[in-house]
Amino acid sequence: MDFQQTIGDEITLSGVGLHTGNFGKVTLKPAEADSGIVFRQGTQLLEANWRHVVDTRRCTVLGSGDLRIGTVEHLLSALNGLAIDNAVVEIEGEEVPAVDGSAAPFVQAIRKIGLNRLSASRKALRLKRACAVREGDSWLVAAPSDDFSIVCVTEFEHPLLGLQGGHFDGTPESYEREVAPARTFGFATEVEALRSASLARGGSLENAIVIFEDRFSGELRYPDECLRHKVLDLFGDLTLVGHPIKAAITAIKPSHRANVALARMISEEAVSE
Ligand SMILES: [Zn+2]
Repeated sequence: MDFQQTIGDEITLSGVGLHTGNFGKVTLKPAEADSGIVFRQGTQLLEANWRHVVDTRRCTVLGSGDLRIGTVEHLLSALNGLAIDNAVVEIEGEEVPAVDGSAAPFVQAIRKIGLNRLSASRKALRLKRACAVREGDSWLVAAPSDDFSIVCVTEFEHPLLGLQGGHFDGTPESYEREVAPARTFGFATEVEALRSASLARGGSLENAIVIFEDRFSGELRYPDECLRHKVLDLFGDLTLVGHPIKAAITAIKPSHRANVALARMISEEAVSE
């Protein structure tokens, strides 16, 4: 039997947010079984659930009333990737810090303090049949499986990227090695447009790969780092189902909008083990 997990102790990370450019701070705290991942800003609580998604243009934003918590996906990806079921995420500011643009700093901080196994069993969701969503250019399928895995395909009209694809296991070891270090990226030609839409204000070469016409802004961590970052985002957005899922995901050109639509479909179609 699989047991639920939480983190072993408190962890604090801080830094600028990728889109607002504002300084923010998150403190992760252990939480009891069956409480899930819950954000806390001041006295307000917000469950990490697709029902609370209010924006998916460049990142995934959760909100309720006037509460906003932006760019939740990289932190949620680390929690999901490491199979952490329960945690409280206290946030100062309106956006999770970008750290290095990947999930690796969250993973390393969590690894340092370790995990705590709880006495309650994990309640994974299982699909009875395959389900699919399409949002614009994005096609996503979730099929019944005994494990969680992702096949992802990306295509960009750029000579350095083109068509890329890969298969990724859902085990924490594989996530940590193959997915967590992949950084977010943006095209140099898009940066101005993003800035004028008040996005990517905190983006810099410290926390993002910038892709120019003929080169990347620095050395890549993997030849297909951009593909892997899309997988990282999927791990994050699918946390919004609210439970671990046993499904084989196929994602063709995934986007936050499509990922969240799939999270919703899985939570509506799947049954608890
Ligand atoms: Zn991302």
